[in-house]
Amino acid sequence: MKKRDQPASLDGAPASIPTATAATAVGAVVATVSLGLEAEQRIAAAAFESQNGMVLTDPAGLIVRSNKAFSQLTGYRAADLIGRPMALFNSGRQDADFYQELWATLLEKRSWQGELANKGKNGRIHTVLANIKAILSEAGVVTHYLANYVDISLAKKADLLAQRLAYYDPLTQLPNRRMLQHRLVQALAASGRSGQFGALYFIDLDNFRALNDADGHDAGDLLLVELAERLRAAVPECAIVARQGGDEFVVVHEDLAATAAEAAILAAQLGDRVRTAVDAPFYLPGQEYFCHFSVGVALLQQSDSVEVLYKHAGLALLQAKKAGGNTLRFFDPAMQAALDLRNAMEAELQQALGWQQLQLYYQPQVTSGKRVVGAEALLRWLHPLRGLVPPTEFIPLAEETGLILPLGLWVLSSACQQLKRWEGKPRLANLPLAVNVSARQFAQPDFVAQVQEVLTNTGANPALLKLELTESLVMENVGDAIGKMHELKYLGISFSMDDFGTGFSSLAYLAQLPIDQLKIDKSFVQNTPGKSSDETIARTIISMGRGLKMDVIAEGVETEAQQAFLARHGCHVFQGYLFSRPLPLAEFEAFVAQS
Ligand code: C2E
Ligand code: MG
Ligand code: MG
Repeated sequence: MKKRDQPASLDGAPASIPTATAATAVGAVVATVSLGLEAEQRIAAAAFESQNGMVLTDPAGLIVRSNKAFSQLTGYRAADLIGRPMALFNSGRQDADFYQELWATLLEKRSWQGELANKGKNGRIHTVLANIKAILSEAGVVTHYLANYVDISLAKKADLLAQRLAYYDPLTQLPNRRMLQHRLVQALAASGRSGQFGALYFIDLDNFRALNDADGHDAGDLLLVELAERLRAAVPECAIVARQGGDEFVVVHEDLAATAAEAAILAAQLGDRVRTAVDAPFYLPGQEYFCHFSVGVALLQQSDSVEVLYKHAGLALLQAKKAGGNTLRFFDPAMQAALDLRNAMEAELQQALGWQQLQLYYQPQVTSGKRVVGAEALLRWLHPLRGLVPPTEFIPLAEETGLILPLGLWVLSSACQQLKRWEGKPRLANLPLAVNVSARQFAQPDFVAQVQEVLTNTGANPALLKLELTESLVMENVGDAIGKMHELKYLGISFSMDDFGTGFSSLAYLAQLPIDQLKIDKSFVQNTPGKSSDETIARTIISMGRGLKMDVIAEGVETEAQQAFLARHGCHVFQGYLFSRPLPLAEFEAFVAQS
């Protein structure tokens, strides 16, 4: 709203009082027939002592006089109010814009009427219907403001109660179907603005009627109340939990993710949380009761209407019931299939470690003369049916599920064992080995201790171990990263910044970190020479490395032209298909022997 050059609020001292042009007095105590001064004063005094709260202020909004009803309303004695500003009653329920509007009206029309929530002496907030009028001198100048307050707190309360009954379920106190519809319309509009996906859950008890029939409605009611509480506790504060009627509950979670696939994964996780919460036994009078639930989920997106959304979640619920109940189903079959695949993969990945399906491959790092000067250990999953699963498919899943912790530890100790085995072999003995560390792994409070233990147990030389960290990992918690990196550095380990250039490293932090090497991300290398912005980035990283006394390596080098461009600008160590793909151990050892 446009700010006006007028007093900011009724409760603040007005900045300026305009000279009125109208000569008519607009005051409440105006005599039309002359009664004599003394009579007029008596009448005015009597009128002032009405049942409504009355308060008279000077043009600056400072209280001049108030009546008994006003004292009852606010809890202040009239004598204590003299000279005090109206700001005293500010409850914070009205913002600055509101008061600005009030003043604009008052100055223009000489009166204002509306609702105000004011705070009394004991902090209690009362709602009043206020009628404020300007009192003008004969010259048309404002001499006072007279406010007349009618207490409407009780009516307000009654209103709220009626509203509660109309929009909330009296048994569980959750929003009812009507409120839910209202909120869903809002949620869909919000999704339209943000482009984010949310999820709608239909939750239905599998055997509620049996409980009602066998134990009566009181037992059923108790179960519903307890269930409502558990649902509320299981979902984030921002989610809506509503009772649709009978034994049907609905949960709405907005803003899950920007893509349907991501939203489906998060929606399934939330669904699991809900199911875990309601799966525990209910303690009803005289019995421990186990009940099962079916859940139907539909993703919420801008293009849907409430009707379509209901239909989708309803169909999904039907599927869950058809599958025998006690389960969760998504509306979209493709989404369900993706979720099934992911669940299967998670279970299999858990076993992969024990079944020795994981293996390290080694990708050589070479100089311009094609001499191997190091290697990066890259994880491979040899799945009995799927074949070789690339890490890009299972590392993110492992990150999400926490499996990355045992997995990462396995990689670290396997790499260190390998370093130890190479110790006796002349060409391999001094090759540094780079190991990728994931954010979650690095964030563990005892990460440094874990690395130290692995080094002790394997007897590997720390000087040959290089940890690859990403910019985002470091930037997530710079303070923690700096501390841990220095401790690890103290053990003799070195660091390489992987995928460098793709994150948003702060140069100030970069200089503080004990980094030995910058690794130019393959996305830049791929477009050199040719794409000038990527060329510039590659060149900048190289000169930055030189300036900060860090080595630079380029990853993803596939062509001679790329290698030549990088070398021309001062990068002389490479990793990429041009030299070799990541290799199984024996092939890698043979490759080194030839180099
Ligand atoms: P990264 O650490 O940036 O690894 C480099 C990736 O680039 C590897 O993919 C490598 O095979 C690939 N690459 C190497 N040269 C070329 C080339 O010339 N052209 C192209 N197009 N690609 C090349 P990979 O093995 O599929 O690994 C992908 C990512 O998975 C890794 O990226 C790393 O972030 C992650 N990863 C792999 N192993 C581990 C591990 O043990 N732990 C963790 N936390 N992450 C790992
Ligand atoms: Mg790497
Ligand atoms: Mg990389």
